[in-house]
Amino acid sequence: MDVNWNTIDAKWQNKWAENNDHDVDPNEKEKKFITVAYPYPNSPQHIGHGRTYTITDVHSRYLRMKGYNVLFPMGFHYTGTPILGMSKRVQANDTELINAFKTLYNVPEDKIKDFVDPVKIADYFHEEIKAGMIEMGYSIDWRREFTTIIPAYQKFIEWQFRTLKQNNLIVQGNHPVGWCPNDQNPVSQHDTLGDVEPDFTEYVIMKFNIENEIIPIATLRPETLFGVTNLWINPEIVYKKTKVNDEIWIISSECAHKLSFLDKTIEIIGDVKGSELIGKNVKSPISSEEFLILPASFVSATTGTGIVMSVPAHAPYDYQALEDIKNGNTKGMPESIRDQVKAINPITIITTEGFGEVPAEDVIKRMNITNQNDPKLEDATKEIYSKEYYEGKLNQNTDKFSGKRVSFVKDEIKEWFSTSGKSDIILELTNAPVKCRCGSECVVKMLNNQWFLDYGNKEWKEKAHNCFESMSILPNEIRTEFFNVLDWLRERACARQHGLGTRVPWDKDWLVESLADSVIYMAFYIISKFVNAKEILAENMSDEFFDYVFYEKGNSDAVAQKMQITVKKLDEIRKEFLYFYPVDSRHSGRDLVPNHLTFFVLNHVVLFPKENWPKEIVVNGSVLMDGKKMSKSMGNIIPLRDAIKKYGADPIRLSILISAELLQDADFNIESVSGIKNKLEVMLEECKKSKKSECADLEPEDVWIQSRLSHLISEVTESMDKMRFREALHHIVYEFDSELQWFLKRIKAKKRENVTGIMYKILSVRVAMLSPFAPHIAEEMWEQLGNTKMVSKSTWPIQEIQDNNTPVLTESLLSSTMNDIANIIKVTKISPKRIVIYTADSWKSKAYHQILKNVHSGQTDIGTLIKELIANKDTEQIKKDPDFVKKTLKDILSEPTELRDAKMTAGEIDENASISSELTSLIENDYGIKLQVFSEDDQDKYDPKNKARIARPYKPAILIE
Ligand SMILES: [Zn+2]
Repeated sequence: MDVNWNTIDAKWQNKWAENNDHDVDPNEKEKKFITVAYPYPNSPQHIGHGRTYTITDVHSRYLRMKGYNVLFPMGFHYTGTPILGMSKRVQANDTELINAFKTLYNVPEDKIKDFVDPVKIADYFHEEIKAGMIEMGYSIDWRREFTTIIPAYQKFIEWQFRTLKQNNLIVQGNHPVGWCPNDQNPVSQHDTLGDVEPDFTEYVIMKFNIENEIIPIATLRPETLFGVTNLWINPEIVYKKTKVNDEIWIISSECAHKLSFLDKTIEIIGDVKGSELIGKNVKSPISSEEFLILPASFVSATTGTGIVMSVPAHAPYDYQALEDIKNGNTKGMPESIRDQVKAINPITIITTEGFGEVPAEDVIKRMNITNQNDPKLEDATKEIYSKEYYEGKLNQNTDKFSGKRVSFVKDEIKEWFSTSGKSDIILELTNAPVKCRCGSECVVKMLNNQWFLDYGNKEWKEKAHNCFESMSILPNEIRTEFFNVLDWLRERACARQHGLGTRVPWDKDWLVESLADSVIYMAFYIISKFVNAKEILAENMSDEFFDYVFYEKGNSDAVAQKMQITVKKLDEIRKEFLYFYPVDSRHSGRDLVPNHLTFFVLNHVVLFPKENWPKEIVVNGSVLMDGKKMSKSMGNIIPLRDAIKKYGADPIRLSILISAELLQDADFNIESVSGIKNKLEVMLEECKKSKKSECADLEPEDVWIQSRLSHLISEVTESMDKMRFREALHHIVYEFDSELQWFLKRIKAKKRENVTGIMYKILSVRVAMLSPFAPHIAEEMWEQLGNTKMVSKSTWPIQEIQDNNTPVLTESLLSSTMNDIANIIKVTKISPKRIVIYTADSWKSKAYHQILKNVHSGQTDIGTLIKELIANKDTEQIKKDPDFVKKTLKDILSEPTELRDAKMTAGEIDENASISSELTSLIENDYGIKLQVFSEDDQDKYDPKNKARIARPYKPAILIE
């Protein structure tokens, strides 16, 4: 077959563009406003990016066919530091990056020269991505396109920021942030390698003493200070004697580095080898008790201070390290203190149901752990920590906290220590190492007098929570993730020192951060249409304008005058906002759940009235390449535009969507692209053969296939409504094939020629349902079918209600009988000269329906059934054949309820008539012989093997000679 996909793609893309098919303005129809996270143009898009946008496009196209006025717009997010970082590398003549531009991204050399300007990089990839989106056939209203650095957008963001600040939701304060020491900038997900959000947690530092020096340890469980028996130090580490403000601390150099970002003055004054500290005694921060410092290999310089306290009763690592020493298995352990170590016993301070006297010992024995390097210790630790946290109660040896539950009293204990001056805090990245895109390792920094979005605000969270509760979230299982994010969310730095974007309106030294200027831009799609048409000018825009468009606040005459537009135009903009808002569906990848999508809702609930809050979020998983994660370093990235050139847009769209439902990772591979391509080419060929005409003189198989088609429509529509696109595609492209094959076999056997009408109907329905997924080839098929209008303008097929089940039951009787015959022939290896079918006696049919009725009402007891059937004159003959009831009951029980119900409503069908008239042609076609059909009670039947008596309804007896 010779299908030129690129030609077909271009043909239909041009037609859509010529007709402005995707330019959407308010009209009398009901609207749907479908949006997707806009791209950050620092590289061309690859197959992986294609998934979210393709899902959004399919969704838009489907809703359009359902009769909605669907707006699907697109913008480009220039804000942020990565592009700036790239331009700096080009300025520095970084050959690695320049080569990547040349070879990986195919950027022409004269363009690369311009890349010293970050905006030129963004512009270049912006156009590249846009071209790819057009080539993929996305039904975008390009009149509304914008970038986040145009003056009008900046005015919009200034309005957003001032409005948030007026509502006290942007606050100045001192808060910890993820930080790149090299860029001197806060970092969030979009600034890091691998797109990880720096996540950090607060550890309590307990200050133990040796004379005038402090040995600090960091812990998440300050309550366990009451159970300390010793400290652990790694003899291999060289510790730093460090001046921390006015105190001398002994800590790892990594700890000193971390502390220097946490509002402390740090000065390293000397080295102390870990081994030198072993055997020394330290004084408890809360009593006169002293503890030995002992060696342990599990102690790491990068966690906490590089020194840890040992709570052997509640920490499996500590318990095991002590055991290792007692057993003589620890290097660097001086003989002189061995006896002292032997005297150390665990001190139990928490009682938890399910654990014995020493919880750590319990778990270690259960898990068969025998040394401190056993990885199982991690699980042991997790188990004890979580159980003791939620269920544990503190013992009498915990001072005034005795009898209290650990989870309730933790903060109180923290507070108590901190007021005593014996403790401090350190913030640690929990997902370290996190690397900035510049390559530096990120830290936690205490940022002072900075601008923060007050995402810790309880009322704000509550409002967002309500919105999430009333929204549709697809798939629904992701909803709790949003609630979790809201729970842990705290103040978030919203200004940056470098990058592209908008200046903080009241503090022009700072720029609005990229996850703060990308949360309500869906509203800007309304405004950008008028900006791009030059009907409104950025220089005239003020907060009053946005207040009017979004809230109808203020005096329209005054606002219009200031904008230098008519009141009519101003009201048109306001009306257009009211028409399209709220967002009906927001699409994004799963990685944006903990940030963008949550912020999107948070900002909407405070910046817009309730009726304009978003209606739906749709989240999808990522795309794997041959089962592996796609990445530049793996070299398995296929640029989207290359793939389109090679395979055509539709095979790419389908293969991305057909391998997985929303949240699963989709697996992309070339074999599946070619498979789909071939399949679509076959369908196109079928369409060429079929022409538009009416369905006349319906035969039973026509009625049947129409009923199957109707069923297909209802299945696909249901899948589409739940956004189960994989399922829908399977139904459209593959699952209907077996039914179609049967139909074709039937019409061939009957040598029918008048089937164009019915074939046209089948193909039209399939093509129409395929068109949201494969818009180009579907238009081509639609045209081949003889239609003049475009399929994208047609309406979604509507299920025809079928109240007659008989054709479906008859057809399934025919196909199952054909299967039975084929199986007998296969097993007996006869080459048939005679095929005889016997249909069941009429009393059996009556009995069958009685049994069916009983099963339906839950009566399946054989004895009762037989009694009842014998009592009835119509069915008393089962006396002769009690086995019939057993077999029939088994037949019925093995069927799906749906089929049973269909049989119930259809009542008795005339099997003899159907088989005689419809099966004859099939037998003749398949075996070249004439079929003989007898009724079981036919006195003159040919039945040498006495087969007729075994016939049952829907299960005729067969004789083959
Ligand atoms: Zn950096």
